[in-house]
Amino acid sequence: MSEKSINILDVVNLPLDIKEHEKAVEENIPSVKEGNLKIYNPDGDNVKKLLTLLKAKLSRQVVGSMVGCVHCGMCTESCHYALARPDDPTMAPAYKADQIRRIFKKHFDWTGKIVPWWVHAGDPKDDEELNRLKNIVFGTCTGCRRCTLNCPMGVDTATLIRLTRGLLAELGIVPEGVFQVSRDQWETGNQMAVSEEDYLDTIEWMEDESQDELEDPSLKIPIDKEDCDFMYTVNPREIKYDPRSLGAAAKIFHLAGESWTMPKWGWDMTNFGLFSGDDKLGGFVARNLYEAAKRLRARRIVISECGHGYRSSRWEGYNWGKYKQDLPSESVLITLIRYINEGRIKVDPSKNSLPITFHDSCNIARSGDLTEEPRWLLHRLCTDFREMHPNRADNFCCTGGGGALSMVEYKPLRMEVAKIKADQLTATGAKVVCTICHNCIDGLTDVIKHYKLDMKVVQILELVENALVLPEK
Ligand code: SF4
Ligand code: SF4
Repeated sequence: MSEKSINILDVVNLPLDIKEHEKAVEENIPSVKEGNLKIYNPDGDNVKKLLTLLKAKLSRQVVGSMVGCVHCGMCTESCHYALARPDDPTMAPAYKADQIRRIFKKHFDWTGKIVPWWVHAGDPKDDEELNRLKNIVFGTCTGCRRCTLNCPMGVDTATLIRLTRGLLAELGIVPEGVFQVSRDQWETGNQMAVSEEDYLDTIEWMEDESQDELEDPSLKIPIDKEDCDFMYTVNPREIKYDPRSLGAAAKIFHLAGESWTMPKWGWDMTNFGLFSGDDKLGGFVARNLYEAAKRLRARRIVISECGHGYRSSRWEGYNWGKYKQDLPSESVLITLIRYINEGRIKVDPSKNSLPITFHDSCNIARSGDLTEEPRWLLHRLCTDFREMHPNRADNFCCTGGGGALSMVEYKPLRMEVAKIKADQLTATGAKVVCTICHNCIDGLTDVIKHYKLDMKVVQILELVENALVLPEK
């Protein structure tokens, strides 16, 4: 442990009664003051309801992480919050998880019944304390799972954080941004509330642009076409803010001679349920996607560049939606590798000559095991690839994970702890950072802007588009 590290004894000796610890937390997390209490479901005894909800969520995985922590402190050095605030024990992953663990211990574990003082068992007293819990689980963790991977006891702190978020979401005690994005995804089927008209207009616009660029009017972005090789699903950010990636994908799929379609409904592969902890929302969104592919008899689902969308659509959504996992799905990275391997598209790396580094998205690398595939592509797409350290499953979060971008009240803290990411980016000496996640684009852009780094962010689709060698007419 480095000299500046948190002494784990500070963490285990903290008075874990939230009320008693109020002052210390407020001093250490200035931004929690800004996350004021706002209950979207002001109905009944929330503390009592929280206990009932918690009981229903006690799966084997959850209980294992509740009882497994021995407070060794090894996870502390994994967390960018704790690393950026070495003198602040409330940033330690174990401390954050202890806030739900103490409730579990009081009601569901024998240690809390026999020696409650020893295991710091206790309840939140009122809504104000639930609000404090909200500020800890939403405001001081991006659910990146770096601590999870570094726990010798197999404790999944990120799961406990998500579980607590889900309990609070059921009570309506969530940051305003989380409430709004969740509502939008429930009401419109996509988390940016893009209307069907805007969705179709954007696709038509990108179709026109791509036709012009390739001088080929036969290029199409098919909608609701049946029996295609794959159904392509995107992040609403691609429709609402930056449709260039859709245009790039359309050109690449066209040049590869692909049989593909986009669905009119069920096109959002992101899933705010992963961030809010709301499994019902997660199931609703994922089912929309799977049902669309089934309705169109697509042979597989291809997921555009998005970390949490990839994790939700490919793995978690089936569980949330209680849906039989019988439809293959893949990241667009795999599709691109297939095209290059099969000679369906040709790329020239000299067209991307600036020094490029790569940011592994937490949900794709750590939680999705796609680490070598982006590198395989990058080695063929640019001439000066520079590895970031640490990398792959050990990479640091872009700082915008876990829905953090939607929670503006916590941004000052997020930018403060982003120093870890800024230093990591700077050390590469690269002028460009490539990522394969729309969320990471925004997270990294915030870091670059805040720390005034001389760097820009690109995506793989953009690099492929730029490197394309067009066939002779
Ligand atoms: S979560 Fe794991 S690494 Fe962290 S203090 Fe507990 S046992 Fe140690
Ligand atoms: S999941 Fe990531 S941000 Fe959250 S406590 Fe663990 S390391 Fe820190």
